[in-house]
Amino acid sequence: MATDNPQAPDDRAPAPRRRDARSASRSPESPGSPEARRALVRRRVIAVSTIVIVLSLFVGGTVAAVLIAAPRILPPVANVAGTTTTVASPGATSDAPAPAVSPVTPASPSPSAAPFTPPPPPGFDKTQLSIDDPNSYWFVVNKQRPIPDAENFVPNELTDLPPDMPNPNGYQLRLTPMAALAAMFAADKNEVGTQLVAQSGYRDYSVQVRAYQYYVGVDGVAGADKTSARPGFSEHQTGLAMDILDTTSGCTTDFDCFGKTASGKWLAANAYRFGYILRYPADKTAITGYEYEPWHFRYVGTELSNEMHNTGVETLEEFFGLPAAPDYGG
Ligand SMILES: [Zn+2]
Repeated sequence: MATDNPQAPDDRAPAPRRRDARSASRSPESPGSPEARRALVRRRVIAVSTIVIVLSLFVGGTVAAVLIAAPRILPPVANVAGTTTTVASPGATSDAPAPAVSPVTPASPSPSAAPFTPPPPPGFDKTQLSIDDPNSYWFVVNKQRPIPDAENFVPNELTDLPPDMPNPNGYQLRLTPMAALAAMFAADKNEVGTQLVAQSGYRDYSVQVRAYQYYVGVDGVAGADKTSARPGFSEHQTGLAMDILDTTSGCTTDFDCFGKTASGKWLAANAYRFGYILRYPADKTAITGYEYEPWHFRYVGTELSNEMHNTGVETLEEFFGLPAAPDYGG
């Protein structure tokens, strides 16, 4: 048994020896000796202590690093969530921190387009067309502004009216005003249910001479000047004006009868849609020089008629800033 005891350590020795064999290259001490074992224990203690210290430093440093970095890490998380909302609301984009810019960038074109405001539309250009050329749709003729060289003036593009437009005296108009008149007659038939009549359109100089002389003979010069233009001063010579009545009211081109009819009221309110204006309104005699003529409509084109309608300016004299023309003067 005793011999077993001394052998016991030897029997158990191989394990430490194998460990010592690995450390033998690092230590000159002979393996198996008490000193070698103590040295081994010391090394183990030192190694474990070193590991503990290193781990402590590592863990401590990590914790410290997390604590230091936490304020920087957490807000970006909140900002990322915030930027998802800023995409929908362009106004907050400028508040996004630098790291959060990248997800916002793809959406930046629409926010940059939002503040864009188109330039205001240019004001109405009153010089687009001439008011002095008798062939212009904007030509202004009144008792102060005669037609230049009226005895020889014949407007462009005079044309007959379509056969389906009542035109008892066979008057003509210029082409574009004629087409607009046809559309206006059709709209009246559709919206009011009456049939309009083209009572008097283009009158050449010689016709106006005879018409004026007729009225002078009946009413004298003063009386004639209230209702009939002198030769060279008539809007009818431009081919842009039409006296309009209807087939049912029985009204004539006298007094204010036609202005009280459904068609007369409709024309006064809607002629602008077709490029026409009521040329001699009831309360503008001092400006136009003519008494109220609810039948007399003048073509100026839809651009001008719409502008006059929208601005509430009723006469060409007022719209173009021309002097009032109550009489012939001189
Ligand atoms: Zn007329």
